[in-house]
Amino acid sequence: MSKNIRRYLIAGNWKMNKTASEGTALVREIHHEIGHQSDVGAVVCPPFTALESCAKALEGSTVQLGAQNMYPKSEGAYTGEVSPLMLRSLFCTYVILGHSERREYFKESDAFINEKVVAALDSSLKPILCVGETLEQREADETTTVVETQLAGGLKGITADQAENVVIAYEPVWAIGTGKTATPDMAQEVHGFIRKWLEGNFGEAAASKMRILYGGSMKPANARDLLAKEDIDGGLIGGASLQAKSFVELVTIARSLV
Ligand code: PEP
Repeated sequence: MSKNIRRYLIAGNWKMNKTASEGTALVREIHHEIGHQSDVGAVVCPPFTALESCAKALEGSTVQLGAQNMYPKSEGAYTGEVSPLMLRSLFCTYVILGHSERREYFKESDAFINEKVVAALDSSLKPILCVGETLEQREADETTTVVETQLAGGLKGITADQAENVVIAYEPVWAIGTGKTATPDMAQEVHGFIRKWLEGNFGEAAASKMRILYGGSMKPANARDLLAKEDIDGGLIGGASLQAKSFVELVTIARSLV
């Protein structure tokens, strides 16, 4: 099955960086460079507090907006939380769910992440579901078991039609923010495993349309070889998404591979 049926997706995870005005300045620069192309999907995921101003700055742009988290209820007594409907009202298309930082610092379980995936899809938000092993798990040869458990838990109850709107991000925890990247072959091995798992659970037609992003210190210097791999359909980018130059370069590299 050729990867041509999947459009590359380059998604920037800003984490807890950029005030509303800093974020607006950044998306203006990004829009100026790549806001009119649609060869490759480009998404920025600012903190909640910058979503509204970024949405305004991105009006008429092909660069889309995503959030970094959400609570799986539409409204109610959940102090400090943000609902899928609130994100939709700010023109978010995507939402990152189950990032390893949320799993680690906020003790998010696969069951809770699954509630969020279901709620996001119910509100027409596309989840970017993050999975990946720690260094200890890799060294103990548990990578595929861990990834499979996170996929099965996070995607429980999802139909094949819904699955087509889910993006998977394979992010080896040991590669996030560390400057260590999985080699293209190491990443492809896990991406190939994920594709097979998706085929087994949602059928070949849905699995061939689903995008599997690599995340973990991806930057312009290493992106080309990763993105060229059969089952790597884009990147979830932390550090390198905080500057217009490197984010735009990543989109440009993906475009050159189309
Ligand atoms: C991330 O946090 O999703 C990530 C991949 O970060 P970085 O690119 O900085 O490793």
